[in-house]
Amino acid sequence: MLAVDVTPYPIVWDDRERQTLFAGFVLATAKAMGIELRWGGDWSMDFEVKDNQFDDLVHFEIVE
Ligand SMILES: [Zn+2]
Repeated sequence: MLAVDVTPYPIVWDDRERQTLFAGFVLATAKAMGIELRWGGDWSMDFEVKDNQFDDLVHFEIVE
């Protein structure tokens, strides 16, 4: 699986709101490029971010 861990600098690990904003930017940019990504803050990819069982907010992976 192709994945990266990326987060805005300076890193604030427990700032879920900030990381969610960043994830939206990354997901939209990838989508515009025709790339489907899964983010560690929404494993189910249903755009519900409060039901995520395990947060890995810096994690993005290519859906194959
Ligand atoms: Zn990761």
